[in-house]
Amino acid sequence: MYPVKSAQMLASSDQDARLELCHCDQVGLAVRSVVAFSKGEVLDHFDGRIDQHISQHSLQVGRGEHISETQFVGFLSHGCDPNCALDMETRRLIALRDIAAGELLLIDYSITEDTLFKDFDCACGASQCRGQITGRLAMKNP
Ligand SMILES: [Zn+2]
Repeated sequence: MYPVKSAQMLASSDQDARLELCHCDQVGLAVRSVVAFSKGEVLDHFDGRIDQHISQHSLQVGRGEHISETQFVGFLSHGCDPNCALDMETRRLIALRDIAAGELLLIDYSITEDTLFKDFDCACGASQCRGQITGRLAMKNP
């Protein structure tokens, strides 16, 4: 787990926000919870622009389809032992386990992305950390 005590709040669109963008020393721009969530709870419904363009903050929603200009989900950090997951069919972000207020939100990039904008070395600290993170196509055909 990444320590988030150095995180600074960058954006909070309204007072009822349940998520916020923050800055974390290890991972840069990230998303954290403002309130606690229970396992299975929906953290966010997301929306954005869908086209064929892959960028650092886009997410794959279907074959050759990528969503960008999202409020939060495009800024989620990767973790090999994630605490939430994206449901691309219903465009929801769902808690995989109980999440405390102020926790950094992590998804596994290799689950949704065929190819990453940029492969990278992971230092998430999870016991099952895969080290180098790629899209799922590269995982199937190393
Ligand atoms: Zn990792």
